[in-house]
Amino acid sequence: MNAVPPGGTIGILGGGQLGRMLALAAARLGLKTHIYSPETDAPAFQVSTALTCAAFDDKAALENFAAACDVVTFEFENVPARTVDIIAASRPMFPSAATLAVTQDRFEEKSFVASLGLKTAPFRKVDGGKDVDVPAPSILKTRRFGYDGKGQAKVANATDLARAFESFRRAPCILEGFVDFEFEASMIAARGRDGAIAAYDPPENIHQDHILRRSIVPSRLTEAQSGEAKAIAKKIADALDYVGVLAVELFVTKDALLVNEIAPRVHNSGHWTIEACLTSQFEQHIRAVAGWPLGDPARHSDAVMDNLIGAETDDWRALAAGGGALHLYGKSESRPGRKMGHVTYLKAMTAAR
Ligand code: AMP
Repeated sequence: MNAVPPGGTIGILGGGQLGRMLALAAARLGLKTHIYSPETDAPAFQVSTALTCAAFDDKAALENFAAACDVVTFEFENVPARTVDIIAASRPMFPSAATLAVTQDRFEEKSFVASLGLKTAPFRKVDGGKDVDVPAPSILKTRRFGYDGKGQAKVANATDLARAFESFRRAPCILEGFVDFEFEASMIAARGRDGAIAAYDPPENIHQDHILRRSIVPSRLTEAQSGEAKAIAKKIADALDYVGVLAVELFVTKDALLVNEIAPRVHNSGHWTIEACLTSQFEQHIRAVAGWPLGDPARHSDAVMDNLIGAETDDWRALAAGGGALHLYGKSESRPGRKMGHVTYLKAMTAAR
C-alpha cells in the first residue's frame, strides 16, 4: 500500500476536539482532511478541508466520503461496526476494524490484555444482576459505550450490584476489583505501517469526577517503570498489528503497573506533546496512518496540561492573559463536564505559577 503523498486526503470519522487537532496537524504536513460527523457544529469542521455532515448509518454518505479519501481513521472508539465495514470495503482504515472490535468491549479488551501476560485489575463478566459474589469494593462497568466515568458504579455488595445493573438497563457488564493505586499514568505510543514504534514519556494523570483534569510530565514513574510502560504499549500495539497512535491507561500500584484501558486513538493525556515534543501525538498519528516515517517523539520540556471543563472557558480573557499555550476547541456552548479547551504550561512557566 502506497503512502499518502502531500496533497492527499485523510478521512476522519468524528468531529470533536481530537479530530480538530488531527486536522490541524495534517495541514502542517500539507495533507488535506475530510471530517465526517453527524453534528452540524462539530469543532473539527472549522479547520478541515472538506466535511460531510451525515449519520454514521448513512451508507451513501459513507461511500461518498470514503471515495473522497486516500485513507480513513477515526477520533473516537465507538464507531459502529457497520460504519467500519462500509468504509473498510473501499478504503484502508487505520487502526483496523479488528482493533476496534477488541477495544469497544471492556471484557474483550481486558481478556486480550491478560492473554498477553499483562496485569489488570481482577475482572469478570456480569450478564445478570443476581447471584454474583461481590468482593468489596468493586466497580461495575458496562462493557460497551462507557467514557469519562459514564456507565460505571462503585459497588460493595450484591444489593448494590443488582441496583447498578438495573440502572444500566441490564446491559452486559464487567465487575472489576477496585484498585488502590498510588497514581494514574498513561503510555502514548505510535506504531507505523512498517511496525516502527515511537513512544512518548508517560504522563501522570489526575482525574476528578472521572474526567481528566491534569497531565504532568515527567511523572513519578521511575525509569524502570517508564521502560516497563513502554514495553507494555509495544506488546499491545504489536499484537494488534496496530497502525496509528494508541494510549494505554495505567494504574500504578506499589508493586505493579496495571492496564486499565486501551484507547485506539490520540488521547487527552497526550495534548502536552504539541508544545513539549518534537512531534506531537496528532502529527504522529497522521504520519502513521498516511504511511510516512514516524517523527521523533523526544520531549524537550517538562510540561503540565490542564483541561478546561464546562464554564472554565467563559472567562477566556483571563485565560488568554494567563500565559501557557491556550487551546480552545471552538465549541459554541459550555456544559458541565464538557471539555472546552486545554492549556499547556512548559517548565519555565510552571516554575513561575
Ligand atoms: P475508565 O473509564 O475505565 O477509564 O475509568 C475512569 C476512571 O475511574 C479511571 O481513570 C480511574 O480513576 C477510575 N477507575 C476505573 N476503574 C477503576 C478500578 N478498577 N479501580 C480504581 N479506580 C478505577
